[in-house]
Amino acid sequence: MKSRTKVVVIGGGIAGCSTLYHLTQEGWSDVVLVERNELTSGTTWHSAAQVTNFGMNQTMVGLKSHSIRLYKELAEDPDYPINYHHGDGGIRLANTEAQMQGYRHFASMARGMGVQFEVIDAQECARRHPLISTDNLMGGLWDPLDGDIDPAQLCQALARRARKAGAEVYRNTPVTALTQHRDDTWTVHTEHGDIDCDIVVNACGYRVNEVGAMMGVHHPVASMEHQYFLTEEIPAIRDAGHRMPLLRCPISDYYCRQEKNGLLLGFYEQDCKTWGMDGINPNFVNALCPDDLDRVTDVLEGAFARMPALMEAGIHTVVNGPITYTIDGAPLVGPIPGKRNAFCIIGLRAGLGEGGGHGWLLAQQIVHGEACYDTWCLDPCRFAGHANVELTALKAIEDYQNEFRFHFPHEHRPAGRPAKTTPLTAVLAAEGAEFTVVNGWERVEYIKPKPDFTPTLSFDFDETLGVVAAEVANVQQNVGLAEVNGFNRIEITGADRHAFLDRMICGALPRRPGRVGLAYLLNLQGMVKAEATIANLPASDRGPDRVWYGSAAASELHDMDWLSRHIAPDEDVQLRSLTNDQTILVLAGPQAREVLSACSRGDWSRDAFPWLSVRECFVGIAPATVMGVSFSGELAYEIHVPNASLYAAYLALRQAGKAFGLQLFGARAVESMRMEKTFLHWKADLITEYDPFETGLDRFVRLDKAEFIGRAALIERQAKGPSRKLVALQVQAAHAPAHPGASLMAEDRVVGTVTSGDWGHRTGLNLAHAFVEPHLSAEGSEMTLDLCGDRVPARVIPTCPYDPEFTRMRSESG
Ligand SMILES: Cc1cc2nc3c(=O)[nH]c(=O)nc-3n(C[C@H](O)[C@H](O)[C@H](O)COP(=O)(O)OP(=O)(O)OC[C@H]3O[C@@H](n4cnc5c(N)ncnc54)[C@H](O)[C@@H]3O)c2cc1C
Repeated sequence: MKSRTKVVVIGGGIAGCSTLYHLTQEGWSDVVLVERNELTSGTTWHSAAQVTNFGMNQTMVGLKSHSIRLYKELAEDPDYPINYHHGDGGIRLANTEAQMQGYRHFASMARGMGVQFEVIDAQECARRHPLISTDNLMGGLWDPLDGDIDPAQLCQALARRARKAGAEVYRNTPVTALTQHRDDTWTVHTEHGDIDCDIVVNACGYRVNEVGAMMGVHHPVASMEHQYFLTEEIPAIRDAGHRMPLLRCPISDYYCRQEKNGLLLGFYEQDCKTWGMDGINPNFVNALCPDDLDRVTDVLEGAFARMPALMEAGIHTVVNGPITYTIDGAPLVGPIPGKRNAFCIIGLRAGLGEGGGHGWLLAQQIVHGEACYDTWCLDPCRFAGHANVELTALKAIEDYQNEFRFHFPHEHRPAGRPAKTTPLTAVLAAEGAEFTVVNGWERVEYIKPKPDFTPTLSFDFDETLGVVAAEVANVQQNVGLAEVNGFNRIEITGADRHAFLDRMICGALPRRPGRVGLAYLLNLQGMVKAEATIANLPASDRGPDRVWYGSAAASELHDMDWLSRHIAPDEDVQLRSLTNDQTILVLAGPQAREVLSACSRGDWSRDAFPWLSVRECFVGIAPATVMGVSFSGELAYEIHVPNASLYAAYLALRQAGKAFGLQLFGARAVESMRMEKTFLHWKADLITEYDPFETGLDRFVRLDKAEFIGRAALIERQAKGPSRKLVALQVQAAHAPAHPGASLMAEDRVVGTVTSGDWGHRTGLNLAHAFVEPHLSAEGSEMTLDLCGDRVPARVIPTCPYDPEFTRMRSESG
């Protein structure tokens, strides 16, 4: 066994084997994998091992496509062929029009990744899968490349190729402890000796938290028991003359594939069970949980009704094994928050199909710092402190119970709520607020017109359209108040804070005390990494000279991690998170200045407090820090208040607002208004797949600065010219918004992808943002949007269709 290597991957299931193989593909051959027992002895050996292409976003579709390509290549390797039924096809069933519409959207989205799904009717489903009945069936989504693979052979093939490239695999070598040194390197302690290394990777399947504990972290991953059975031979399959496609059924919660001349049927029962919550027997190796088919009776009835041939078939094997879930159903693949040189590839619930792709993206992140796709949907940083063991278990159960039921736009499922609240949550609920969830925070989405208001889940505009329109109108005409909780805020102090930030951001840094500016951070590849509001607060009785770095709520761990890892050892810079201590009240609208003046002493006139100013003050008796910034396009103030004083500030603002028509507004109104200003959203429009020039952020880039992270790469990219450009679009449809991921077409070719879409109530336009081929980015360019299967015209319009001169937010009329 080596005593020193570059990377130690812990765990020899599909996650670990794929990571090891892909590290060698990225050029790192001094890498090892340690496995406590034999390869695949965790979950992988007993997997149903279906390999599908369907995903909820382009990153998932792209990584699954990589798995499929890789597995096909492995299967065809004459030196070590493996069993892979490639391209049996698969159908996701539907019995409602809403599901069918969703499938049409996912087909539009996948087309942008070069994947051709087909939405077919019930008769066509039955033609392609002769065992199914069309009762209570509307149709389905056809995925032509679905298949299944031999999981043990797959892992052996990956390990074999990795070994050939120089990697080493140590079986029967349990990792017992991990030690991190001052220089961020690690020692991996195993039963057979220690291995020093630069980087560790946790790929430990359901034992994820045993190894997490060795480095002092808890990962939001919980295991569920999951069962399938195999039937005896079914004559109709034997005689069909072709293999049966896979089935996935959101109506009765099962999946099904052909196994020899019978079927393999897996269940997602409502009466489901977590597993291993209080520790896992160390001898649970190559092991299964006891069969419990009683739990799945309901699901089984649905499957029998769909496939009557099943009723004749005997069951010859039942498999019940642990399967891991996270709190949003997607795995955690990337750097471990709060740790250096530590990565994970965990929480895989469809790891056989996805594992090839996850290992690929992880190896890229380890070697290059970033992957070819934006990996936010997999980023372990995407859950902040609320993702504890109890919440994870509740979300795992909910997710398991809804395995094949995709989330509709604006759907937030109830388990594990409320996780994070402010002193205002109950107050706003009493005002009729409907809440959405942002990084665990309950954030007001809109104010319900009546208590039992329940909009339809749909890809079309729903009943909230009029509600949001009224909130926007009041902001535009009078003044609105919104709570924005969980907004990420990092206080940066120290003599070198400006020099440090100047290196982190690609544009001009606001340095003057009392001023605020918008800034962008790039990664080493010159792509857009983060967006921040930089506010310079002068020394006061509340603190020394300091910068407040503000960014999206979801970025709490992400931005802290990125900033802290770039502080040089000799730099006088301190970071302190205020995210959980402060909440923003946004006051927006032409009367905002009057309301603020009525409850906060001081001169709030345009000259005394112009746009992009920051000032400490009191709102009523509540200490507050006010910034003159706007995401709505109206005159607006962000009022940052310590949570202990939030209710006091709220009461003062509501009282002062009475005379000016102040009403509450929510996140849906904000979304609509920011679309009309072409303000961009982090991880919707701002992603690591594009640089700031492609994203239209030219005015925020200063290449004449001597140094900033990503500068060299950006200069190189600029020389090559853009691959795509972000544009604002007007969509010629009134029934539905453009959904993120939807494809834009020209002459039946995909020429762009939507990143955001919503109705603009002040402009009366159906608006979208999209990255399109550069030659189509000019104003007036026409293309077609595949809007859930409907082809509708979309035209490039000037950015900022509402108040393009910015007179309203600068309050030049005031
Ligand atoms: C019944 C069932 C059916 C499934 N069907 C499908 C399907 O059809 N398609 C699909 O894509 N997915 C399916 N899955 C899910 C899929 O099998 C898993 O997502 C995948 O196998 C997880 O792989 P892994 O490498 O993350 O974990 P594992 O396979 O559990 O591997 C983790 C490895 O880490 C090792 N390890 C743990 N602790 C240590 C330590 N301290 N030191 C060294 N090594 C350690 C373990 O021994 C183990 O080998 C199914 C799962 C189940 C249970």
